[in-house]
Amino acid sequence: MVEDLFSPAVLQPQCSAKGCRAAAAWQLLWNNPKLHTPEYRKTWLACVDHRETLGSFLDARGFLREVKPFTAAGDAVIS
Ligand SMILES: [Zn+2]
Repeated sequence: MVEDLFSPAVLQPQCSAKGCRAAAAWQLLWNNPKLHTPEYRKTWLACVDHRETLGSFLDARGFLREVKPFTAAGDAVIS
């Protein structure tokens, strides 16, 4: 993939959807009870277009715990 627009100065958190490079607008906090302790939260970032897609994916598996607006870098620890 050509990263012609890549620059650390404009680098910002991107959507977690496969192949999507849009800026994150939402953070989806989820937990897989088979792998994680109940308090543990994984974080996925989603752009406006993928909030629904990623949210449904997690919700269908019973993993989705919380969806919050993503405002700034440093807001979320991506895990
Ligand atoms: Zn996206």
